[in-house]
Amino acid sequence: MATDLTGTVAVITGASGGLGAHFARLLAANGAAVAVTARRVDKIQAVADEITVGGGRAMALALDVADAAAIGPVLDAVQAELGPIGILVNNAGIGGDGLALDISIEDFDATFNVNVRGTFFAAREAAKRMIAAKVEGRIVNIASIASHTVLPGLSAYCGSKAAVAMLTKSLAREWARRGIAVNALAPGYIETAINDAWWPTEGGQKQLKGFPRRRLMDASDLDEAFLLLAGPAARAITGSLITVDDGQSLPGGG
Ligand code: NAP
Repeated sequence: MATDLTGTVAVITGASGGLGAHFARLLAANGAAVAVTARRVDKIQAVADEITVGGGRAMALALDVADAAAIGPVLDAVQAELGPIGILVNNAGIGGDGLALDISIEDFDATFNVNVRGTFFAAREAAKRMIAAKVEGRIVNIASIASHTVLPGLSAYCGSKAAVAMLTKSLAREWARRGIAVNALAPGYIETAINDAWWPTEGGQKQLKGFPRRRLMDASDLDEAFLLLAGPAARAITGSLITVDDGQSLPGGG
């Protein structure tokens, strides 16, 4: 089943590497014009250049989603260059690791500022523009198995991702009659900069061997579910969270 996103403008946050850069390439490969955003400008420019060289349409814009006031102007710049925004992917996220007894107030706040506040205000700014332009909008929030499963030692992250799951449902309800589908994708573990220092450790190896399939996932394992939520097929899907985790959150896993 091909997803044709030709003529659609997509904005993705946290797309300077990892899953965000992967989703940016995927959206472009399926025809979308893509605004690649994150804080590290050299990295997002490289992703946008790669898409452009490959025949796609892309632009790079610096955006720190923790700075709520910065989001609207960036979306306006995207619309001025590429046209009305049809897809927002709230992908920017940080790990917030640290035991509950140890995590600093600053690290806790940063986790919620990026993962929750960033998701909320980017969704709101995008929704305002989708409503004004009368487009059938798609908002895809990148949640996690941490939205519904305890990941030991990651209470701040788990709390933030549970909030993302509930925001997804609440915003979906609020904007249901505005033609905007708001959904979430909950991936299992994929090796990226957010976790790559963990897997070679003894604890990481032990966790990996506890997964039902004893392996990490690949970013491409998310592609079909992601495109389902980002594309026309989500017409009647809103407020849903799709878990794609290779069974990692099943009992006995993790
Ligand atoms: P990653 O490689 O560390 O990428 C995180 C991205 O978020 C980076 O591009 C980073 O870009 C961006 N970011 C961080 N703070 C930001 C901020 N304040 N404003 C804008 N962008 C910011 O991790 P990843 O695995 O690709 O994570 C992507 C998303 O998937 C996250 O929401 C994560 O929670 C979720 N997820 C990951 C996994 C996994 O196993 N990898 C599993 C489930 C869910 P800059 O530093 O350039 O801003």
